[in-house]
Amino acid sequence: MRALQYIGPDRIEINDVPTPDIGPLDLLLRVGAAGVCHSDLTLLHFPMRLYEQPLTLGHEFAGTIEAVGAAVEGRAVGERGVVYLLWTCGVCRECVSGDQNVCAAAGRTAYPPCPGLHLPGGMADFVRIPADSFVPIGELDFLQAAPIADAALTSYHAIRGAREQLWPGATAVVIGVGGLGHVAVQILKAVSAVRVVAVDIEQDKLDLAAECGADLGLLGDAAAGQILELTDGRGAEAVFDFVGIDATAKLAVETVAPNGAYRMVGIGGGDPELTAGPAGGPGWPWGASVRKSLAGTKRDLLESLALARSGKLRVQVERFDLDDGPEAFARLDNGKVRGRAVLVP
Ligand code: NAD
Ligand code: ZN
Repeated sequence: MRALQYIGPDRIEINDVPTPDIGPLDLLLRVGAAGVCHSDLTLLHFPMRLYEQPLTLGHEFAGTIEAVGAAVEGRAVGERGVVYLLWTCGVCRECVSGDQNVCAAAGRTAYPPCPGLHLPGGMADFVRIPADSFVPIGELDFLQAAPIADAALTSYHAIRGAREQLWPGATAVVIGVGGLGHVAVQILKAVSAVRVVAVDIEQDKLDLAAECGADLGLLGDAAAGQILELTDGRGAEAVFDFVGIDATAKLAVETVAPNGAYRMVGIGGGDPELTAGPAGGPGWPWGASVRKSLAGTKRDLLESLALARSGKLRVQVERFDLDDGPEAFARLDNGKVRGRAVLVP
């Protein structure tokens, strides 16, 4: 079968590899579609540790069951579904409580095992998955379903964790209107009555935000002053940062309201400079909180899927054949993708 593989720093290619074998508790999935996430680029440019090499990429995918492991119950060949991307232990306190995204088995600050980042992923004709990661999608189109597995799941989790701040009339800022951000705008509009302010460095991303329901779009640099002006100096009740570099962390800290929520989703290494001491000046206001938000829980996946199936969430997709995967990566790297690039084997 074909697989889009990470070969080494800044090197990906399509290779012929054996179709995976499955164990008794696994499924073999025929991939219908796999999304390209900015985290794939992060892996390419800054490998954080030694992964299996070459590694088949793709942590956001959907497909059809091709084969069912001998001990799996309740699943059948031909079922269509999406894959929960964190292959967690299932038995630690966090998993049992429904907080699978912070599974303790992976370690206090680790990332639970994930296809495409640690194990062979879904940018391939087939992928082996644990049966309990499979979530049925009914008739939902694969191009729509794949990005639900991360772009929507991760955005939804960050938003659900800030629901106390999302009261009617509150202001929510979405920084970075890419694959995650354009979905986040729609989720905010679907689950709350907040005013959504989108911030990006590209005008066409702000146009996309407007199409997704954002009330206002602001271009990067001057955004802090404008957000404070819009909110009578108080700031925004929630700031969702889908970039996570120093500049956007600074923007978030300078615009989050007292008791507001700053949610860091982008993994650009930004430092929000949180220090103890009296508040004052442009830094943190009293009562504001920050959360490093990782992916989402299985419940978040079900609820994100429900939004997609109800039509309230529609991913803007750029479709590529799997063979053109490298081109999709280059386009994302150049900031050219509108919404999510999705590969189809
Ligand atoms: P993307 O490339 O599709 O979108 C990024 C957007 O940010 C683009 O629209 C770009 O124009 C904009 N942008 C870049 N610099 C900016 C700046 N200084 N100010 C405002 N906007 C700016 O990326 P994506 O796939 O949506 O991922 C977003 C981030 O979230 C990445 O860092 C990714 O690695 C991360 N991520 C985190 C998790 C998690 O679980 N925490 C999950 C998925 C993705
Ligand atoms: Zn991702």
